Amino acid sequence: MNKRQMNRRKMIRHPHLTNLNIVILLTLAFGVALIDTFMVGTQSPCLAADTFMMDGKAISAKEAQSANLVKESMQTLEGGNVQNALKQAQEAVALAPEFYYSVCALGVCQARSGMSDDAIASFRKALSLNPNQPDALWSLSATLQSSGRTAEALASFKEFLAKYPANARASQARAFVDLMGSNHSQAVTSHNPEDYFDEAIGNNPVRWNKENIPIKIFISDGSSKRGYKQSYAAELQNALKAWEDASNGLIKFVQVDKQEQASIVFLWSDNPKDVSNPAEGGEALLRPLGNSLAAVRITVLTIDIDQGMHLNDQLIRLICTHELGHALGIAGHSPSPNDIMYSSLPLDYERLKVSQRDAKTLRKLYSIDLASVPHASINAQGLLSASDIANSSDLVTITRQATDAMNAKDYDKATVLLQEGVAKYPDSVSLKHNLGAALNNKGLMAMNARQFSKALATFQEALVLNPDSNAAKHNIATVHYNMGLNSMRAAKFSEAEPELKLAIEKCEELNFQELLTKAASEYATALEKLGKSAAAKQIEAKYKVTAD
Ligand SMILES: [Zn+2]
Repeated sequence: MNKRQMNRRKMIRHPHLTNLNIVILLTLAFGVALIDTFMVGTQSPCLAADTFMMDGKAISAKEAQSANLVKESMQTLEGGNVQNALKQAQEAVALAPEFYYSVCALGVCQARSGMSDDAIASFRKALSLNPNQPDALWSLSATLQSSGRTAEALASFKEFLAKYPANARASQARAFVDLMGSNHSQAVTSHNPEDYFDEAIGNNPVRWNKENIPIKIFISDGSSKRGYKQSYAAELQNALKAWEDASNGLIKFVQVDKQEQASIVFLWSDNPKDVSNPAEGGEALLRPLGNSLAAVRITVLTIDIDQGMHLNDQLIRLICTHELGHALGIAGHSPSPNDIMYSSLPLDYERLKVSQRDAKTLRKLYSIDLASVPHASINAQGLLSASDIANSSDLVTITRQATDAMNAKDYDKATVLLQEGVAKYPDSVSLKHNLGAALNNKGLMAMNARQFSKALATFQEALVLNPDSNAAKHNIATVHYNMGLNSMRAAKFSEAEPELKLAIEKCEELNFQELLTKAASEYATALEKLGKSAAAKQIEAKYKVTAD
């Protein structure tokens, strides 16, 4: 045997490693609720003899007059006239400059007008006048956050949690702290002024394959949902168009009538339990396979999730646009509050739209050369089952733990974690799929340890879970080849013959040319050794190989 033949007869340790496909859960941390912050639960000042009372405390006549102006201002703000509301709040402060309520109301109106720095100053002043007001501290935190002053916001939300752990907004504050705590290091570093690809997408881009564009989207009928308005459907269309326009022709959507036909399923919901964190207005559940997006489910709530933040057409459009950005593969967030893909809505949300940076980030995602898209042909339908949606938070946790085990190359542990997950959620499509991936890798470990029967059984188990898995099919072909080769080396030609024959059949099905040539050559050799010269010659001619 010459050196070339030696090379060709190497055992194949075929690296068809499969990554877990994490169900990515993305939520839009809902902006901040300021409008009602101190009107809710607060009685109007009442006149009692010569004393004005408010919240059980005596206030001056000027302060009472100011409080009435504040009330008007807040109503104006709710009606959507931000500039008039600001004027009324300014009058209220002019009447009683050291009155906590007026100063706080001015802060609210300033924040809603985009005057973040002024608003922050007003909230700080309000807190100096009355340090024990959760609403002012909440508003300060939220304004800091939505204007991109992340480090200060984090400190402020932490103070809020420490002082008011039982407040109705505590869970929302906790979500902010978690979110900002994990993103904080990148938020403070200077970033690329052109796009935020590195921050939001980074080293593991996922996107829709060309053959899935135009992207099929199913939109549920929201008319039976509480809070839903007919105009919301038009706002969703505006959101779709905004991304199409921003993409310069790279992205197109097409609406389909049946959920089963869709790549993106868009659901209107009036049940806060339909999203993983009820403090958020919407969420996107992404199902990537390799670098490809296979399925996305978006849920947008039609009801107010915060007593101070009232849904309207504009907010719906912004929430839809943000979630659609995730659905297109912008899986993370922009570090800048000027982009639609920032992690929360700014207070002065009226100014927000798909920015140049949003557009450039999207176009970069759809222009870069993805070295390989290993699952391009997979059937995208049905990868998010009802169970995946209902149990998304738990599924994400299980998948993360399994991913950690996979990254540590502990495929046995990953398999066990996912098997437990499948036992708990037998209807979860994504867990089953990931279990298949873990089994595939476990099988490879067995194959590399020359435990061929165990490897074959493991790959077959993986294939049952993922009938579309090319990796499992390639690995099955490879293990048959290796079994044949092992027998050839031990001069057990009659044992080698059926394994190599199987390897050839599998390779032909897969059009796996590289292994086909090797298997055919070994097979011809085995036939020669078994005295079946005519059959050997046929194989040599058919596959253009020579027996060794
Ligand atoms: Zn988001």
